[in-house]
Amino acid sequence: MDFKLITLGVSAAGPVPGRWPSGQFLKTAKTGFLLDAGEGIQIALQQNGIGWGSIDVILISHLHGDHIYGLPGLLTSWGLNQRTAPLQIIGPADLEPYLSTVFQYSHTGLPYPVTYKVVDFDTQGEHVFEDKDVSVRTLPLRHRVPTVGYVVAEKDRPRTMRGDQIKAFGIPFQEIPAIKDGADYVRPDGSVVPNSDLTLDPPPSRSFAYCSDTTPTPDLLPFIEGVDLLFHEATFLHELKEQAAASMHTTALQAAEIAQSAKVGQLILGHFSPRYGNLEPLLKEAQSVFPNTALAAEGRCFEVEYGGRKA
Ligand SMILES: [Zn+2]
Ligand SMILES: [Zn+2]
Repeated sequence: MDFKLITLGVSAAGPVPGRWPSGQFLKTAKTGFLLDAGEGIQIALQQNGIGWGSIDVILISHLHGDHIYGLPGLLTSWGLNQRTAPLQIIGPADLEPYLSTVFQYSHTGLPYPVTYKVVDFDTQGEHVFEDKDVSVRTLPLRHRVPTVGYVVAEKDRPRTMRGDQIKAFGIPFQEIPAIKDGADYVRPDGSVVPNSDLTLDPPPSRSFAYCSDTTPTPDLLPFIEGVDLLFHEATFLHELKEQAAASMHTTALQAAEIAQSAKVGQLILGHFSPRYGNLEPLLKEAQSVFPNTALAAEGRCFEVEYGGRKA
């Protein structure tokens, strides 16, 4: 199943040459998600060939400008480009008034339906979206304004039928869905073939977590335990840990400690302070604690792999 992250905006606060503020694209089998939409998101999407037809749901973490200033322009351009497909936007309560106010004063109407789902900051791990293949829950983050992260997880798959056994026992086609769900097969003579003789374990379900922006918090750990791919903000090097704490952000070292404690498969660092031209020191700092770490970069694609490795 298609399950990949394309990082589009990796800068904190404002854009710098080569780095846009927050915006990431997650492709799953049936649904395309845009995670945050900072200034420049339209350019980043175009540069990566991601049109409106690829995005069904927008997940917003919080209402700081570097995560939402790209949204009015993006939604307007989709209208100008004849989008008709419905769009769902999930995020804090003030998101809808923010957008409707911009559209009111700019005399903008959208020719496609938009539905809003307001996240409940009092419900940790709130279930906010699902389709046939994946479900989305919120994560509790701690930042200067109400903020959530998101976990996108594949649903459990049915068991895999063994073709040789279908043939050997002459199992009728209509019996197969129940066997895939775990049922035994009762033969016409009344004898029972146990499910374990007929099926194989399905591939493990994969998951992705998005954490931006936050101070490092153990509250997060139960929600991201064992995820295959973790995007975590790493605004500063650890030498600026006081500044990180004051602004409620995370250092690269702290992000790696979170990844290690949660036993994730792979860590992706993002949301870098514009002060850093060279990001390698952030990568090295994190890898000293959690070796399977990579840097997000505009247009970089990360497959969500089983335990951070190919299955
Ligand atoms: Zn931010
Ligand atoms: Zn913020």
